[in-house]
Amino acid sequence: MDTVLVFGDQLNRRIGALAAREPGECRVLLVESEALLRPARHVQRLHLVITAMRRFAEELRDAGYDVDLRRAPTMAAGIEAHVAEHRPDRVIATEANSRAGRALCERLGIEQVRSNQFLRHHDELAAWAEGRRSLKLEDFYRWTRTDLGYLMDGDRPVGGRWNLDADNREPPPEDASIFTEPQASRLDEVDEEVLASLPDAKGAEPVGWWATSRRAALARLRHFVDHELVRFGTYEDAMTTRSWSLAHSMLSPYLNLGLLLPDEVCDRVEDAYRSGAVPLNSAEGFIRQVIGWREFVWGLYWLWPDHADSNALGHDGDLPPMFTGEASTDMACMADTVAGLHERAWVHHIPRLMLLSNVANLLGVHPRHVLDWMSDTYIDAAEWVMVPNVMGMALWADGGRMATKPYVSGGAYVNRMSDYCRGCRYDPRRRTGEDACPITTLYWDFLARHRERLSGNNRMARPLANLDRLSDLDDVRARAAAAIEAAAEGRL
Ligand SMILES: Cc1cc2nc3c(=O)[nH]c(=O)nc-3n(C[C@H](O)[C@H](O)[C@H](O)COP(=O)(O)OP(=O)(O)OC[C@H]3O[C@@H](n4cnc5c(N)ncnc54)[C@H](O)[C@@H]3O)c2cc1C
Ligand code: SF4
Repeated sequence: MDTVLVFGDQLNRRIGALAAREPGECRVLLVESEALLRPARHVQRLHLVITAMRRFAEELRDAGYDVDLRRAPTMAAGIEAHVAEHRPDRVIATEANSRAGRALCERLGIEQVRSNQFLRHHDELAAWAEGRRSLKLEDFYRWTRTDLGYLMDGDRPVGGRWNLDADNREPPPEDASIFTEPQASRLDEVDEEVLASLPDAKGAEPVGWWATSRRAALARLRHFVDHELVRFGTYEDAMTTRSWSLAHSMLSPYLNLGLLLPDEVCDRVEDAYRSGAVPLNSAEGFIRQVIGWREFVWGLYWLWPDHADSNALGHDGDLPPMFTGEASTDMACMADTVAGLHERAWVHHIPRLMLLSNVANLLGVHPRHVLDWMSDTYIDAAEWVMVPNVMGMALWADGGRMATKPYVSGGAYVNRMSDYCRGCRYDPRRRTGEDACPITTLYWDFLARHRERLSGNNRMARPLANLDRLSDLDDVRARAAAAIEAAAEGRL
């Protein structure tokens, strides 16, 4: 009998090798690799992955499959022990979602079936990219949307515009009670068993925010579409101390583990729009994230094997202790974001991009430290999504291969898109003096430090012209040097 090896991020019967086999035709192998259960990782992430694997194994057994779920020191050791015990005719897997996973399969002679876990196989992006001078999300998105037919009227986008981002930049509303509390599950004996088997990892213990089965993930999808999607577009970029989830879907961990598939998620969202339940800016904004950004970064991960080693800005600083919670910070925006990560292993896209990454970049932290820390911290972490997002989009460490300009900003952006600054001891408008906002000060210092490199970039012309108008640049730079030192010593 054949064995189908299922990696921990392929937990769905519709995926690849498993999709083609009925119960009784194969044995299924899942390995809980101890090498991945590192204490540096957030405990909620470890709990989610292992619990979801165990519940998936149970689901398969209930459907009549013969399942071997085993824990082993490494993935390879688990596979070898399974082969020694069961002597399968062949071991087959769906193409792994990481380079390390594919290399392992090759080394152990495991046959890999083409993956259908994404809407596009990454070789389709590679073919699309061939011969293009620059790879733009917007071009990829239009091509994919036309091809898949989401929100289309014939060959035109519904409503006439491809991208409604301009409608999606509202600050948080005064009344944050419009956002519903995210659903939570009660922990059961499976959760307790898994928790007891984990190392003493970082972060707060799980309390049920994260669904660990396909059934519960489907309920989260329903809840999002029925209650929050309507506001998703409008408040997509907003940040507030009064709601940690706002109208975000929090579906990324389920999509990344295979508990949900991208087509079923987008189909539900399109249906909600077509039925008149949600406006176009929400439906289009959401579908663009999934069929655009998500598929784009998936393809780029495979296209650029050296992307993780990028450091075009030559940053070499350490990650300051305010990121890890080893030191507190007076920066209200960072304190709230880091506390959110401790509690839930999740913050939405804008704190990831415009706070954590922005601050790390302005402080000159080495991109690899940011990548490693985020990989260990986020509930939805996966190498394929993390590397392009961190190296390309967030830190511009690839020198513009992915994003036309660095996503850096001063405190004015945070002040416009959040209510953090109201409760902060720093002033977002000030760049010098004791109460100057560190983000504002460091923003100007960043532009001055990298002026030469950025000067050829049309999209940076205006910020650099503004830099030239500063009469107090020397004071700003002195204050920035003090801020970098204070951050390193946990005093900012
Ligand atoms: C520095 C940085 C690191 C990130 N690391 C991860 C990561 O490890 N894992 C991860 O899944 N996403 C990552 N993202 C992308 C994005 O921030 C998360 O997918 C999103 O915040 C998850 O919350 P949500 O499900 O509520 O998303 P929503 O705001 O509800 O968006 C809907 C879905 O769109 C997809 N999506 C949105 N933006 C992106 C993007 N830039 N890349 C890929 N998919 C996207 C996700 O699947 C998400 O579930 C990162 C972004 C940045 C800037
Ligand atoms: S003033 Fe600066 S540090 Fe304080 S919350 Fe606003 S942006 Fe953050």
